[in-house]
Amino acid sequence: MSFVCDRCKKRPQIFIRYSGQHLCADHFLDLIRRRVRKEARSQRLLDSRKRIAVALSGGKDSILTLKLVSEMLRSCRGRELVAITIDEGISGYRPSSVEISRKITGELGIPLELRSFRDLYGADLDRMVELSELGPCTICGILRRHALNRAARLVDADVLVTGHNLDDMAQTVLMNVMSADMHRLARMGPHQERIPGLVPRSMVLRTTPETETYLAALLLGLPVHEPECPYSEVAHRRVFQNILLEAERETPGTRHSLLRFHEQITPLIHRANVVFGKCPTCSESVAENGSGVPCKACQLLQDMGVK
Ligand code: SF4
Ligand SMILES: [Zn+2]
Ligand SMILES: [Zn+2]
Repeated sequence: MSFVCDRCKKRPQIFIRYSGQHLCADHFLDLIRRRVRKEARSQRLLDSRKRIAVALSGGKDSILTLKLVSEMLRSCRGRELVAITIDEGISGYRPSSVEISRKITGELGIPLELRSFRDLYGADLDRMVELSELGPCTICGILRRHALNRAARLVDADVLVTGHNLDDMAQTVLMNVMSADMHRLARMGPHQERIPGLVPRSMVLRTTPETETYLAALLLGLPVHEPECPYSEVAHRRVFQNILLEAERETPGTRHSLLRFHEQITPLIHRANVVFGKCPTCSESVAENGSGVPCKACQLLQDMGVK
């Protein structure tokens, strides 16, 4: 590593391999803030959107997102910020992250909307795992997306900002391509076009790799130690995480390429293949070719008989 930052004489904290930059703590944080502003502009986060919700899981990426978006909104009048936390009901895991969400929103003076699977769907994830043959992460993924959207609608949010980083985005693109899931690929945020029943999503950290969100959170004094979900061993996503780690080692910039691929293909998919409609039960977004059929969350709840 170089002995000085590329922009000043201070000691570097990070070498960014895909861009070849050595940066000190101040210039690294400056880069992250500029990137977040650039993403907010390109995703039109602040255009005529008055009520901005941030999905706050209590993990470092969502906390960093909340912190950077709240900083950005200090210079924008007439905007309201609200945080949304979903408690899935995972014993030994969720209670501590819900506590972190409470603490961080208290410190930043941001209202917190806390919803749980039990309130919304009548059962905790721990109970649902016993009732369904599906894996815990599949149930959790379907219902958390559904719950977040429902909560965002309940607080009248114009946009929902999530903490997805570059690694999350690249993994999701790869997963959807490998399972030939055009509908999911088309539904992925950030959303420029309005999808019926879906509060538009924005991801201001989507071009920032996880190693960088970790360092940024650390340098800003935010909590970085996330408790491990007891179900995470079976997370299907791990396979794609490992593929991408290997690909990035061989070819730095692979994750950015997957993101660009998604950006380029999204308008083509929207026009060519996927038409969206609304779920007849809950009004959430659903593929039109499934017209009259409930969305995945409603089907899942029906199968488990919890609601
Ligand atoms: S690891 Fe799986 S079950 Fe645990 S929070 Fe993540 S998606 Fe949900
Ligand atoms: Zn510097
Ligand atoms: Zn539904």
